[in-house]
Amino acid sequence: MRLARQEISSLLELKGGVSRFKARAYQTGARAIVAVAGDIGRMIEENRLITVPGIGNALASQIKQLHLTGSSSVLDGLRKEFPPGIVELSGLPGLSTAKIATLHETLGITSIAELQAAAEAGRVRDVKGFGAKTEQRLLELIANHDREHKTEKRFHIHHAQRIGDQVLNYLQAAPGLKEVSVAGSLRRWNETVGTIRIVASFKRPKDLVAHFLRFPMIVKVEDQTDTSCSVQLAEGARVSLRAVEPNQFGLALFWETGSEAHVKKLHEIASRNGLDLNRETLKVKINRVKRGKSLSSGRRPLEIRNESDVYPLLHMQYVPPELREDEGEIEAALNKTLPEDLVTRDDIQGMVHCHTTYSDGKNSIEEMARAAEAMGMKYLTITDHSPTAFYAGGLKLDRLQRQWDEIGETQEKVKIKLLKGTESDILSDGRLDYPDRVLEQFDVVIASIHSRYKMDSEKMTRCLMAAMRQPVFKIWGHALGRLIQRRPPFECDVERVLDVIAESRAAIEVNGDPYRLDMEPRWIREARKRKIKFVISVDAHSAGALQNLKYGVAMARRGWLRQGEVLNTLGVKAFAKAVRPA
Ligand SMILES: [Zn+2]
Ligand SMILES: [Zn+2]
Repeated sequence: MRLARQEISSLLELKGGVSRFKARAYQTGARAIVAVAGDIGRMIEENRLITVPGIGNALASQIKQLHLTGSSSVLDGLRKEFPPGIVELSGLPGLSTAKIATLHETLGITSIAELQAAAEAGRVRDVKGFGAKTEQRLLELIANHDREHKTEKRFHIHHAQRIGDQVLNYLQAAPGLKEVSVAGSLRRWNETVGTIRIVASFKRPKDLVAHFLRFPMIVKVEDQTDTSCSVQLAEGARVSLRAVEPNQFGLALFWETGSEAHVKKLHEIASRNGLDLNRETLKVKINRVKRGKSLSSGRRPLEIRNESDVYPLLHMQYVPPELREDEGEIEAALNKTLPEDLVTRDDIQGMVHCHTTYSDGKNSIEEMARAAEAMGMKYLTITDHSPTAFYAGGLKLDRLQRQWDEIGETQEKVKIKLLKGTESDILSDGRLDYPDRVLEQFDVVIASIHSRYKMDSEKMTRCLMAAMRQPVFKIWGHALGRLIQRRPPFECDVERVLDVIAESRAAIEVNGDPYRLDMEPRWIREARKRKIKFVISVDAHSAGALQNLKYGVAMARRGWLRQGEVLNTLGVKAFAKAVRPA
């Protein structure tokens, strides 16, 4: 929605004159909306938008229209006034909206491709205010732009989810929509998402594709048929929609969820079972036989209304989307050994790994407690940083004592049980940051590497093994220190560390911070083989980040973790006992 408003705003700017003032009003409004805390959808439905500073009546009604229908009369009007592609052109750095307007007026240019052709033909240099140098520079800009857009941009899962939700909201406003769901890597909860895939069922699929193509954020249609299309949005995200008739929804959702390897293998298994499983249909071979003679043979399509119907037809257990990577789940499902009690969000009873204003968190102990309570949690572990993490406000002993006092005071005001903890740095020799007599007084200890100390793989492995062997019970925090798309995991011999954990007083964290999502599913599965226990954490530095829980749960499921293997599915007493440091 924010982007649609940005589009309105840039179109208004193009219009110039009186509208320039409106453009500024829209930009201010857009910024105000972004800054508003809470559920925008609810505010709109309750007509409370005009209470936001910077949003007047006219803008509020436009935003409401955009939110409810995905279209806006202002936007539609403006789009009629300008040729398509004008928003795409404003994506070229250094090309002002005034210059775009001039190019349009003199050469009728409506897209980057047309601009490129005109510049290559030497026609841009004659336009007033351009010249040969500018023409050359434009060609360089276009070359850069192409390079950037050819390497497929991948979005972090939480951004992809936000964009996916906007598309779903828009599609849900289409009268007559039956079912709609995200599919692809987003539905499989992969860390990053290239194409946001959507599957929807509609009486006349063609009409839904047409409706989707009016989605205000679309800047480019890359591909289009009667029942599908793939487009690029203003933010650079690629979205593909597949529209099917209601009785095809289950199979389409299965097919589009993937992964490719998973679907391909199931196609082969289907063939072995006399079934023909493809993108459009699942058909069963039929032979009519009379007196030992085959009269006719053919294929009869089966109706797959629900996606879950696909698996039993192939004599296997249902495989949840998070597991569909062809990493052993198909074989397990055929042998009926796939865990059926994978951990879910509702199993989680306590929030683990939370920071407060005592170190680098944004909210107080009480604010964190109330937010966790509102999410239905029974306990919350406060784990601020230890002294070595001085850059993150690590707590020295005097401040730690003050925090414990405040935890005591807060406990009297809230129902949720507060557990005193620390996220202790692992030092280069594998010791933890507080002396044992202090560590023993915590309710829970998370032990994390924050500095890599320039160690090579062997040194890091030894450091971690020493840390895990420390006598206190500890949870290994954000195990391999990766930051998705920014910093790779550090090198170490994970299996040797896991061997040590299996015989030490330790558990492993599945970190729900969408930039960390550590440890990775393949290592979770390795740890499971060794009967190691886990906690699913939020690593929250604000009350809002308690919502990280869903990402932690998804990662745990991708690692095939069962409810009984996750310590914070326990009630408060059993959890406290399981993680008690001494
Ligand atoms: Zn940390
Ligand atoms: Zn942390």
